[in-house]
Formats: sequence, structure tokens, C-alpha cells
Amino acid sequence: MMIPFALIFSFSHQSAPSHTVKHKAPVVDQKSNLNGRVFIIMYHHIKDGANPMFRSAAKFRKDLERMYGMGFRPVTVTDYVNNTMKVPSGKTPVVITFDDAHDDQFHILKDGSIDPKSAVGIWKKFADEHPDFPVVGTWYVLPNLWGQEKLVQKKIEMLQSWGSEIGNHTVHHGDLRKMSDATVMKELGDMNLRLQKLGVPANMPFCPPYGSFPKNKALLKSFKYNGTTITHSSACQAGWCPAYSPNDKKHFSKYFMLRLHGNGRQYGIDWWLNEVQAGRCKVYKAL
Ligand SMILES: [Zn+2]
Repeated sequence: MMIPFALIFSFSHQSAPSHTVKHKAPVVDQKSNLNGRVFIIMYHHIKDGANPMFRSAAKFRKDLERMYGMGFRPVTVTDYVNNTMKVPSGKTPVVITFDDAHDDQFHILKDGSIDPKSAVGIWKKFADEHPDFPVVGTWYVLPNLWGQEKLVQKKIEMLQSWGSEIGNHTVHHGDLRKMSDATVMKELGDMNLRLQKLGVPANMPFCPPYGSFPKNKALLKSFKYNGTTITHSSACQAGWCPAYSPNDKKHFSKYFMLRLHGNGRQYGIDWWLNEVQAGRCKVYKAL
């Protein structure tokens, strides 16, 4: 139902004349909320186990189902930082990210099909059943690139063809805060150049291992490396809460994006989705 703007305005201001508001104002489910929070979810392994870095295949599938039912639709990190998150009116963008390029994220079987137990297999099947929840996410990779060397190029092309993007997660997954500027540039620069050769656009998203930023934060954005200018379009954190809306100019930063864990612990995905359902976390909703 369309609700006139003036009506929404009057409900949200307590200064309305008392004779017109005799009862508590009804809750108005505003269709859009461009300043609401954005979930950027961080997954690592898709496998069974109690480790906070693990999410079982069954639970990952349930995450997709739950988010879909709550009106979330997937976008990339680049869509988020550029404020170009295209989801239908009233829907909520979600950025699904995967770190470390583990083989359980994207595995291809001997017959050429995608392992249905891997993250991509689960998500692709879900996307085939729900075409408005495509495999659109951000994959922060290390040089192992999901572990099947001969299939690396093919996997990157498959992800890109569905609308996903690849991001840099360094070469050796070290703690950037403890490194010299020269080592930081080597870690970011070598991986960036390696990914460019595989068809990843040069100005790619970046994810510092452990959410640990280099002392010289200017290096996150751009630097000269062996005569080449290396640039990264954003940098994300490890996680504990949803990110600020890109319209929230006071808090939003392309080079300090907050993420939350895709696990069942406190401040993980289950916890935050419960907060949304309880009305305590207001999420972004598209116009
Ligand atoms: Zn990592």
C-alpha cells in the first residue's frame, strides 16, 4: 500500500496536535529507508564444525532462504561503495563476501559440474530457484584460488558472468599492521597484478587479513609499485556489525567498511537478522 509522505511525516513527529493523535501512532512500515544499515556478511569455510570460521552447507542454504524471505537481495562491495545498489523497491541489499578462496567455497567435480556442497554450488542452485537472488557477491581471494589450479581462470569467469566480483586479500595473508610500507606494497601489489592477469579489473576491492590495517593507511587506496600505479576501490573490516549506509556521510567510509560474521555466534548473521526482525536494527530499503 502506498502511504502518502505527509502521513508518514505526521506519524514520525510527536508535535502533531494532541486532538488529532488520541492513541499511540500506528507503526508505519516505510517502504524505503536509504539511511538504514547494510549487511556485509563475511564467510570463510562452508563446512561442518564448531569453528567460528565454519558455516555448514545446510546453514549456508538456510541463511540464503532466511535473507530472501526477509527481502534481502544480493549486491557487490563495489555496488555498495559506489552507492549503486540496484535492488527492487522496498528490498534490502546484502553484500555476501567470502574470504581466503578455500576449496569448499568453489569446487568443480570431475564430471565438470559444480560441487553441490560448495558455497557456489549451494548458492547457484538457490539462484536457479530464485532468479532474483543471483550469485552476486565479492570473493576476496588468496593465490590458492580455490585449490584447483587448472580451473582458476574458468572459475573467475563463471563468477564474473553471474555478476560476482573478485577482490584482493594479499599474497601471504600476513598482518599488515606489523609490516613495513615496502612489504605492504609487495603484498597488495603482487596480488593485484596477478589478479589483473586473470581478468580482474585493476581498481579492485581489497580486504586486509584479520581486519588489520597497515600503519600507513594511504597505501590502501593507491601507491606506485615497480613503476605501476596500484589502486584499490575499497577496504573492508573483519566483523561485528552491519555497515553504514553509503548515504550516511557522517559514518560511511569506502576504506573502512564494517562486516559481520556468517556464523551463529553473538553478532553473527543469526544474531543480526534477529535484531532486524525485532525492529532493533533498521536496514537499508531501496526506493
Ligand atoms: Zn582471510
